[in-house]
Amino acid sequence: MNVEKIMADLEAKHPGESEYLQAVREVLESIEEVYNQHPEFEKAKIVERMVEPERIFTFRVTWIDDKGEVQTNLGYRVQFNSAIGPYKGGLRFHKAVTPSMLKFLGFEQTFKNALTTLPMGGGKGGSDFDPVGKSDAEIMRFCQAFMLELRHNIGPDQDIPAGDVGVGGREIGFLNGMYQKLARQYHTGVLTGKGMTWGGSILRPEATGFGALYFTQHVLHTAGKDIKDKKIALSGFGNVAWGAATKAVELGAKVVAISGPDGVCEIPEGITKEMIDYMLEMRASNRNKVEDMATKFPEKAKFTAGKKAWSIPCDIALPCAFQNELSEDDAKELKANGCWCCCEVSCQPGAIHFFQKNGVLFAPGKAVNAGGVATSGLEMTQNAAHLSWSAKEVDEKLHWIMENIHEQCVKFGKQADGTIDYVKGANIAGFMKVAQAMLEQGVI
Ligand code: GLU
Repeated sequence: MNVEKIMADLEAKHPGESEYLQAVREVLESIEEVYNQHPEFEKAKIVERMVEPERIFTFRVTWIDDKGEVQTNLGYRVQFNSAIGPYKGGLRFHKAVTPSMLKFLGFEQTFKNALTTLPMGGGKGGSDFDPVGKSDAEIMRFCQAFMLELRHNIGPDQDIPAGDVGVGGREIGFLNGMYQKLARQYHTGVLTGKGMTWGGSILRPEATGFGALYFTQHVLHTAGKDIKDKKIALSGFGNVAWGAATKAVELGAKVVAISGPDGVCEIPEGITKEMIDYMLEMRASNRNKVEDMATKFPEKAKFTAGKKAWSIPCDIALPCAFQNELSEDDAKELKANGCWCCCEVSCQPGAIHFFQKNGVLFAPGKAVNAGGVATSGLEMTQNAAHLSWSAKEVDEKLHWIMENIHEQCVKFGKQADGTIDYVKGANIAGFMKVAQAMLEQGVI
């Protein structure tokens, strides 16, 4: 494989799609060595096929806001790869959503889903709709209008969307309601992240954050450390950050910072249960302001405008907000403040290289946050079998999956000096599974 040649071809075909091109480059560079040991992959042009989505749907979403004005957004579904199972991945509603971003996320999702051990292909979708400041009624009307189009391309054996940034339980409810109304099909497994009374899995809301902490625990354990009493800085106060904070406190760690687009809240004594519960209200309010935490708990949290969580001294950084959110400068600031481990949802490549070169233990998003989609896979299993498991059963399976992902990373990422390159490990493990599946199913 010639990475530069493949990248030059892709850049010519998809000019300006920087996030997507960046993701492909990162994966190709880390799998190059292993790939070249498999001439059968080269012969079947596995990489050239794998970097392109199988198909992308783009559609217009028209809806009416509370003032009676007509609004138009764009909706997308990227069906990236179905070699190991039906397309699976979240829907993102955010004003910055573009096809490039969704291709990047769909590509990553393909490997992440492969790591979960479950038979799920990769997909991603969403809209440039901005939920910030929208009323419940507007959110509902938008979701219904979005489903008018999306429903043609989804189904329990075809493509199973879920939540992502800007799409939580409320939105999945509106989407599912409209799907059933339109399709007159009442299978519970068309979307995941559903409510408990209509096919949802216990622990799905917590799963990404819980999984991230289980993974972090394994990373620390392998490095001969314990998570207890460690200081954690978190970005975001959405679903992932909420689950991560819950599990971090349960495991005896101390969450000393959470951040939002407006700034950071420093919590010197560590986040409390009440504060974690309040994160849910903060998200539901659609205000998107972390300052609300300091207003509600003035004696516990100190808000600083314009600063990130990475400005607060910590042992472990967990970026839980958005892709590419942690920059190289943030990585330098973290290291200077004593941080020695970063388990990401997503960082910029500069930050990843800085961490890896400067002895900061680093684990990539496709491994760390795979617990969310893994639990979606468990939700699909329960839906298909028409039953529901207890919290204990789901949690045990999630824990086992995260441990298994960690083992795969160790197997493929072990370096000559005994350290683990988690980026390489996750990329190779995910790639090998998808590549093998594509190879065995012929040129299609
Ligand atoms: N959006 C989450 C992820 O990126 C969940 C996807 C899913 O559950 O399908 O992994």
